[in-house]
Amino acid sequence: MVDKVPSSTSISNDPAAGCLLCSADLVYRDAQSVIPCALCGEELSTSAVCANGHFVCDRCHSLGALDLIQHYCSMSDCTDPATMALQLMRQPVLKMHGPEHHYLVPAVLITAWCNRHDDTEKSAKLKTARQRAEDVKGGFCGFHGTCGAAMGAGIACSIITSATPLSGDPWRLANLMTATCLAAIAEPGGPRCCKRDTFLALQTAIAFLNDQLDTGLPIPKLIRCGFTGSNRECIGRRCPYFPG
Ligand SMILES: [Zn+2]
Ligand SMILES: [Zn+2]
Repeated sequence: MVDKVPSSTSISNDPAAGCLLCSADLVYRDAQSVIPCALCGEELSTSAVCANGHFVCDRCHSLGALDLIQHYCSMSDCTDPATMALQLMRQPVLKMHGPEHHYLVPAVLITAWCNRHDDTEKSAKLKTARQRAEDVKGGFCGFHGTCGAAMGAGIACSIITSATPLSGDPWRLANLMTATCLAAIAEPGGPRCCKRDTFLALQTAIAFLNDQLDTGLPIPKLIRCGFTGSNRECIGRRCPYFPG
């Protein structure tokens, strides 16, 4: 059982800029060329790619939050859940607070797990996670006593272990995952912050998966929150990710 959040390394969080996938600067070429969109695969003529060669089409740039999370994770080969979560959080379509974080948590955990284990069912698992996460409404933390980020981690564990209400050990693990994340999230006290609660859920969930299922996912060591100025209810030094 994981009973506390591991201490830290280095994930910074600069404000959004540049490439939607990797934040590298966009490079505008003189000539147009036909390049597949890194998110949807459609081949289109463009003169704008990022310094790492990514092109994201206008349609993908205007996706809603859940569609963006699902597309991004489907196409990503990353095995680091925290890196993916931060990259997605930098996109303006993901608000400071909101139920999109209930899908963000299972999406990046499932993506990292599938990429690490060459799981060919990643797209199907991401779709199932989205359907389940959409049932977890905003405000559940305060009104139902169960933060949606913790439930998102439980959803990821359920899908990874193929848990059902009739399962034995997968049922135990899925519920224990939610409980462990929820305990970590509750500890600093409110008001809620969807960024803090997502970071706490991910750090706890990664340690839990590594401990219980030997998944070998990278543990984020230091997250310094870049969203403090956008959060009217930031709890400041009571938050483990407060930068100052
Ligand atoms: Zn890029
Ligand atoms: Zn596209």
